[in-house]
Amino acid sequence: MVGNDQDQESNVPVAQTEQVEAAKESGTEERIQDDRKYACTWEGCAKRFKQLGHLKDHIKAVHEKVKPHKCPVVQCDYRCTQRSNIKKHVLTHHKELWVSLVKGELM
Ligand SMILES: [Zn+2]
Ligand SMILES: [Zn+2]
Repeated sequence: MVGNDQDQESNVPVAQTEQVEAAKESGTEERIQDDRKYACTWEGCAKRFKQLGHLKDHIKAVHEKVKPHKCPVVQCDYRCTQRSNIKKHVLTHHKELWVSLVKGELM
């Protein structure tokens, strides 16, 4: 006689996740959270952003150092993340060239 009263209890109990959703916020807590819900995931970086796009831009620019825009001046190594910065850069550092570029392309 084998007292097999210990049935195999390998059945994992069904997750009771539904109850979690039932725990609604009571609304009594102060709403001190700002709306910058997208936190940078890079270690040591505490930046938060309101929009996912901003976060992505931040990661690209700050952490991955992606700088897709390059100064059109061949000898110049300037790169940046935003196209508008190129214009600023050229206006500042290659003003003469910029003027000729604009004249050449638009006139
Ligand atoms: Zn970051
Ligand atoms: Zn340049």
